[in-house]
Amino acid sequence: MPLSAESLIVVLIGPGGVGKGTVAQRLLERDDRLWLSRSWTTRPQRATEKGFEYHFVDRATFEEAIDDDQFLEWAEFHGNLYGTPLPTAPDGADVLLEIEVQGAAQVLEAYPDAVVIMLLPPSMGQLEDRLRRRGDEDQHVAMRLSSTPDELAKGEKIASFIVVNDEIERATGEILSILERLRQLRRLPS
Ligand code: 5GP
Repeated sequence: MPLSAESLIVVLIGPGGVGKGTVAQRLLERDDRLWLSRSWTTRPQRATEKGFEYHFVDRATFEEAIDDDQFLEWAEFHGNLYGTPLPTAPDGADVLLEIEVQGAAQVLEAYPDAVVIMLLPPSMGQLEDRLRRRGDEDQHVAMRLSSTPDELAKGEKIASFIVVNDEIERATGEILSILERLRQLRRLPS
């Protein structure tokens, strides 16, 4: 078992373009107990990405890792594979995953105490703007938006908390308050 029983597993979900990546980075900067897992993907690197965002691999390499049971969870999303390698978090760290909803459901099956937090956009219009700004082509933007209602419906079923990303610092602060409360509960004798 790679994680200690005391570790929180925090799973951040939400539709593409909602700002999960930015919020995850702010969470790491503001809370040094959090450790962010770096996912694998078969998606090609975007022109706007620097290369550290994912471990970018080809499909054969990814499939070999599946066969070797190297993932905590993995899923296919719009034709590409994404997966969380079994965590190697330092002792005492709380694990943060920034993944899509099918993967979050698998994490919950393996770790029923995992905390799923769904990030929502203030409006669908803002979601579309953000997808365009990060350099996706029109066709990709339309494809990503088409799956948003399904992602939201599935996410609502498994999320313990819903946070609106109206402003990054505010949304990050709300998540940090949730984590603080969960840590206090974890410390209470049962
Ligand atoms: P993108 O291609 O925009 O970077 O990511 C597409 C979706 O895949 C996003 O919702 C992102 O959170 C999700 N994702 C990233 N890493 C993983 C992972 O390891 N597992 C799963 N299931 N989804 C992931």
